[in-house]
Amino acid sequence: MRLTATFGLAGVILCALFSSGAHSQTGKCAAGPDAIGVSRVVEIDTSDGPRFGHLQFKDIDFLRDGEVVLTFDDGPLRKNTRAVLDALDAHCTKATFFTVGRMAVSDPATLHEVALRGHTIGVHTWSHKNLQAISEAQAKTEIELGLSAVRAALGAPVAPFFRFPYLASPQKVQAYLQQRGFAIFSIDVDSYDYRTPSAATMQRNVLTQLAHRKKGIILFHDIQASTAQGLKDLLTELKARGFQVVHLVAKEPATTLADYDEMAEQALSGKRVAASTEPAKRPATPQLSAAPASVSTTVSAPVNVVSPQTKPSRPRYGEEPPWQVRVFQN
Ligand SMILES: [Zn+2]
Repeated sequence: MRLTATFGLAGVILCALFSSGAHSQTGKCAAGPDAIGVSRVVEIDTSDGPRFGHLQFKDIDFLRDGEVVLTFDDGPLRKNTRAVLDALDAHCTKATFFTVGRMAVSDPATLHEVALRGHTIGVHTWSHKNLQAISEAQAKTEIELGLSAVRAALGAPVAPFFRFPYLASPQKVQAYLQQRGFAIFSIDVDSYDYRTPSAATMQRNVLTQLAHRKKGIILFHDIQASTAQGLKDLLTELKARGFQVVHLVAKEPATTLADYDEMAEQALSGKRVAASTEPAKRPATPQLSAAPASVSTTVSAPVNVVSPQTKPSRPRYGEEPPWQVRVFQN
């Protein structure tokens, strides 16, 4: 079955490509009756810079009641990202991953795995900086180097889908992204998986908000243990409550800029050289020679391991607390 719907909002074209029930878009997935699957695939024409997610943007509402979009930020981080991928596979469902450039460069193999399993890969800056706290020029580098790094690590085009770290989205940077043909994604529902090591708490956060909102773009972090451990059961519960998953894909891939491609290749080749020559001692932080002095381009994973007893203070969007990239120990 092929359904097509066109919404004349800000020049955005959203095409509902098909309904596939509990089967993936490849048709190869054969999960049981509890699998949530993909109910429809929505193709987004990003050329006019559409903005989604009602926490910040009221422009467009393309979801019907009962529909959710699964999004995962901050990865890849091998152990937890692969657990997330396994949970999604168990449900024959698809998601969008907003990838951090230097995380991608640190672990291209896991990024490849995300793509191989049919998910959409978008961009979440180079090093997860708060773009409200830096200059426009630095923000541009965070965006473009992030895009080029994810593209280089993947070895294939990525979707022109962008999410701001901390959802901190200055107007001028939004305008830049829109002029570059990115869709900007905020959120409707927050799993708050970064606040807790508990899968049950993460699940309750999502279910409580969905009971009120009925639909929406859900924010998870594939680097977080609570999501890695709790996603599979959460999807089972969402299916039981009648929710359906919408998979987002881009009409056209993102276009990178040559200068940043060169920098990204240097970062990636630095990692390759390090990995091939001294696997036991390879540095986690290869440097870019052509990097602007104002922007850190080290390739260290932005992960601070803290104990589960450490209780992060309540974050507010727009701040730059360390919690967003914390991984709780189990
Ligand atoms: Zn983030």
